Amino acid sequence: MTEFDFNEPELASDELRLVRQQLRRYVAEAIVPHAEVWEREGEIPRQVFRDLGRMGFLGMRHPVEYGGGGLGPLASVVLGEELGRSSFGGVAAALTVHSDMSIAHIAHRGTAAQKQRYLPAACAGEKVGAVCVTEAHAGSDVAGIKTRATRTAQGWRLDGSKTFITNGVYGDIYIVAAKTDLQAKGSRGISMFIVEKDNPGLKVARKFDKHGWRASDTAELFLDDLQLGADALLGEEGKGFYYIMSTFQNERLVAGAMSVGACAKAIEFTLDYTRQRQAFGKALWDQPVVRNKLAWLAAKAAAARSFTYACAQMIEEGKDTVREVSMLKAYACETLNEVVHGCLQLHGGTGFITGTPIERMARDARILTIGGGATEVMLEEVAKRL
Ligand SMILES: Cc1cc2nc3c(=O)[nH]c(=O)nc-3n(C[C@H](O)[C@H](O)[C@H](O)COP(=O)(O)OP(=O)(O)OC[C@H]3O[C@@H](n4cnc5c(N)ncnc54)[C@H](O)[C@@H]3O)c2cc1C
Repeated sequence: MTEFDFNEPELASDELRLVRQQLRRYVAEAIVPHAEVWEREGEIPRQVFRDLGRMGFLGMRHPVEYGGGGLGPLASVVLGEELGRSSFGGVAAALTVHSDMSIAHIAHRGTAAQKQRYLPAACAGEKVGAVCVTEAHAGSDVAGIKTRATRTAQGWRLDGSKTFITNGVYGDIYIVAAKTDLQAKGSRGISMFIVEKDNPGLKVARKFDKHGWRASDTAELFLDDLQLGADALLGEEGKGFYYIMSTFQNERLVAGAMSVGACAKAIEFTLDYTRQRQAFGKALWDQPVVRNKLAWLAAKAAAARSFTYACAQMIEEGKDTVREVSMLKAYACETLNEVVHGCLQLHGGTGFITGTPIERMARDARILTIGGGATEVMLEEVAKRL
């Protein structure tokens, strides 16, 4: 099989090169051969989380004293890229939501006691994280959430619902956004809470059947008279919107990385296919239009990749990157959709048949221009900053 890869960026350290090698081997040996079954079952075995946890890949960004690796944003990029290359978007999503999008809230804002309680097990892949922001009436418009948190003698009581929550069925640690101040304007009255799976007030209302990302579980959750201690509040009361937005920066960087990894894999599948597929007396690859098309898609993917690494570097340097990361989320995820649909076209009817990798990749790519900040919302963030 053809291996299509980009040149390693100069930024990558020896440590990150090793991370990439080990991840690539694990993906090839332990994910790709089995993930079709997980797609059918809608569940990823816990062993995958445990394996990656044991190898140190689920806590690379988190503090060393709590079982993490203490690495910077480039580590998240390498993880996202290599999981994206698996060609199973649902697997990549479940793992990165855990490592980079949910548990990250505890690493960033948790007290020493909260970090001690949750991070070592999360970094080890023993406990799986979910982040619960979206509600039926409030997705892009995060400030519009209605889940309510009220003070009680013991701490807090949460009532409301959440929807489209990745790892929501099989997760263990839920980071939940709720309104603590109904009078505060828009985004100012939101706070974040840590909810454990066995809390009797937390109910999985349903597991969604999805167009793509089928191996990952996606839940609707009810929070019904959900009682929490005072120590479940994450960070400061009323700062939840700010916390969500700042963690979104990493989520969007990882979405960019997953997209460029998936682009490389789709191009790889298509190089193979067009080189062996004969039509009109020669390989498809020998048609200049076909070659040009793939070269153009590869160029766009390479540009998205360079920008991903540039954004990671800017974050590492502590720069304000809201504009650039919003550009990246929009550009890389739209580019992935262009790449997978261009590659599917070159697979002909084969690309339309369920079970072919490019067909799955086209379905999986679709959510990336919607979830974690739809393209239009991202471009609005860019426009505001032009
Ligand atoms: C498989 C899956 C997994 C998910 N995982 C999680 C999770 O783990 N945790 C979580 O909290 N959420 C999760 N989500 C929710 C996801 O982040 C939201 O679906 C996303 O934010 C969009 O919100 P919405 O679906 O309510 O669409 P809406 O906000 O209703 O928007 C619909 C469409 O309108 C357009 N639009 C919206 N706002 C604007 C605007 N201002 N200007 C122009 N156009 C606009 C966009 O095209 C957008 O796609 C997940 C969703 C899916 C499908």
